[in-house]
Amino acid sequence: MSNRTLILDSILHQYLLDQSLREHPQQAALREATRAHPLARMQSSPEQGELMQLLVKLMGARLTLEIGVFTGYSALTVALALPPDGRVLACDLSTEYTALGLPFWERAGVAGKIELVLGPALATLDARLGRGEGGSYDFAFIDADKPNYDNYYERCLQLLRPGGLIAIDNVLWSGRVARPAELDPDTAALRTLNAKLHHDERVDLAMVPIGDGLTLARKR
Ligand code: SAM
Ligand code: CA
Repeated sequence: MSNRTLILDSILHQYLLDQSLREHPQQAALREATRAHPLARMQSSPEQGELMQLLVKLMGARLTLEIGVFTGYSALTVALALPPDGRVLACDLSTEYTALGLPFWERAGVAGKIELVLGPALATLDARLGRGEGGSYDFAFIDADKPNYDNYYERCLQLLRPGGLIAIDNVLWSGRVARPAELDPDTAALRTLNAKLHHDERVDLAMVPIGDGLTLARKR
């Protein structure tokens, strides 16, 4: 027994997956198809996907944002948890990565719920704010370029309704955020955002040590 979070070795991690995952066959197939990709480590973990599905369902979310799609695992995962009229506004720069995911979205029957917008995510979010969509989204997943995380967070706060949830990925950054000697731009951006969120009175907060660390921030 322990009053601190367990460190999962590979045996315990596999046990957790074996005893909890309820993936749709297309989620498993997309993970398998991405496994050989040189950037496969960018894909969210399935246990994290499962947590996000539960949160989205608990909230009764309908309109969601995804910033950073890659091959589409997290977009697929969230879309599967949404009601039939639910939507994921999925933002990414890359046609190449996102094209890999589309057939899996289609086979899972959720392609119609995912609006993929290619281009810099900040411009997409600003355009949506400009169209008067502020306050209308229920859930956002931030998982793109780390130096822009704070910008994405601020835009998401505007786009979400009160009570909406922002999930921010990679906040523990393989432990680098806690090592002061690590000063590269990605680590510095995550460290600065973590410190800002700790005392941000606009949100309720939990930093969850799942995957590479997932911060959950509920807009007050
Ligand atoms: N959420 C994805 C998943 O579960 O598989 C992983 C996303 S991956 C960590 C980050 C993605 O952010 C990449 O696909 C990359 O093309 C995209 N990206 C990087 N900079 C971006 C930007 N400025 N605007 C939009 N997308 C960006
Ligand atoms: Ca990530």
